[in-house]
Amino acid sequence: MKNTWVNWGRNQRCTPDQLAKPASADEVAKLVCLGVAERKKVRAVGAGHSFSPLCPTEGIMIDLSNFNSITQVNQDLMQVTVGAGIRLFDLNERLDSLGLALPNLGDIDCQTLAGAISTGTHGTGLGYHSISEAVIGLKIVTGDGGVLECSAGIDQNIFEAARVSLGSLGVIIEVTIQCVPAFNLRAIEQTTNIDHVLELFEKAIPVADHTEFFWFPHTAIGTLKINTKTSESPSYRSPYKAFLSDEVIANGGFELINKYAKISPHRAQRLLEKQLSTDRKISYVAPSFKVFCSKRRVRFVEMEYAVPLEHLLEAFKNVREITNQLDHPITFPVEVRVLGADQIPLSPAYGRKSGYIAVHVYRGTPIDPYFQLVENILKEFDGRPHWGKTHSLTSRELSNLYPRWDNFQSVLAELDPDGHFSTPYLDRVLRNPA
Ligand SMILES: Cc1cc2nc3c(=O)[nH]c(=O)nc-3n(C[C@H](O)[C@H](O)[C@H](O)COP(=O)(O)OP(=O)(O)OC[C@H]3O[C@@H](n4cnc5c(N)ncnc54)[C@H](O)[C@@H]3O)c2cc1C
Repeated sequence: MKNTWVNWGRNQRCTPDQLAKPASADEVAKLVCLGVAERKKVRAVGAGHSFSPLCPTEGIMIDLSNFNSITQVNQDLMQVTVGAGIRLFDLNERLDSLGLALPNLGDIDCQTLAGAISTGTHGTGLGYHSISEAVIGLKIVTGDGGVLECSAGIDQNIFEAARVSLGSLGVIIEVTIQCVPAFNLRAIEQTTNIDHVLELFEKAIPVADHTEFFWFPHTAIGTLKINTKTSESPSYRSPYKAFLSDEVIANGGFELINKYAKISPHRAQRLLEKQLSTDRKISYVAPSFKVFCSKRRVRFVEMEYAVPLEHLLEAFKNVREITNQLDHPITFPVEVRVLGADQIPLSPAYGRKSGYIAVHVYRGTPIDPYFQLVENILKEFDGRPHWGKTHSLTSRELSNLYPRWDNFQSVLAELDPDGHFSTPYLDRVLRNPA
């Protein structure tokens, strides 16, 4: 019997012809060759944390979860080679035990390394970049079953394209990352009036290591988060209080409110507002990866766009206005982050300092008209969608947003001219001009 695959957000599913968990490069190569011989598409899958239909396939789905070990460590250069299917939570712990860390991380740590880099997964901080930027070498099983190694020094064009490639170039089996010494962060979280949050956020962007804010729709309340590198030791956080705020309130209580919102949206909204206390401030110190990442147990669907940093606050103002006008209340906060420019051809932060605006709805809730209205606004600011999140753009529109689109296309034509690794979604965003 065939297995059904479902993503984390429960908005994507498929029944692949075969769901394989190879344990060696040879086994991956055999699966790729089998796909080519039998004219079945081959798709690598990570932890299924993308909301866009990146993974679904009717062909052969390859799960790299057996590729989860550290295979090489160069302590002097702080470079680590690791199986591409390792989950970030595992990677973070193992790096920490080596006295190392990734310089920046996103909100959660459940993704695989290959999945995270393939979509340009990012955290926040103008002096920082996405996880893909930390990649310095890749080993990829390509359409002919061969293993291609690339880095800045070997096949540089392929390497640059493959750092954010949506699984379109082949199956990544190994990743070498440039780490930094393990570090602690002081986290400061402040919930207050959104206008005050905006003032503080604008001041913090150029100076803080990592800053972001959340705005709670239909309210004047926001939460600002500032994380700063520190030499202080981790501070004590009562396990009971942490459980109460992280699990009971942030996850359990929020899930209940979202379920209630399906029956009685306006009442649920009022209940949610009552939970938000302004002038709440917390501060603590912890190892970087424990501050960056938290548990997200309430399932949702998300859209996120990167706009040029100079337009971020205007774009947010417009998103706020449109959100407040919706008939159906939005229970999830809007999240706003920043990131430095990079040079990776398909990175949403390519060539420009970027501001990211993300909107979410509870799983099973219609995304439109909310997402459509917000997307229209962000498109006006030359927004580039997060590859792993919902959006409606086609390759024609995307090609105008990425100055090095043609570079990526030439690598795609070289490594997968016949689309063995493609899917209907990849055809839409990378191949067929609609
Ligand atoms: C709760 C939640 C929080 C999130 N927070 C953030 C955040 O803070 N910042 C952010 O930027 N994003 C965030 N995301 C999005 C998420 O980081 C990306 O969608 C990421 O790609 C998911 O990784 P994954 O391992 O689940 O990959 P999947 O979703 O399984 O796959 C993603 C892509 O990677 C490709 N891929 C996977 N493995 C391989 C491989 N071995 N070789 C080649 N291609 C491969 C797949 O083909 C697919 O194209 C979040 C998502 C969720 C659900």
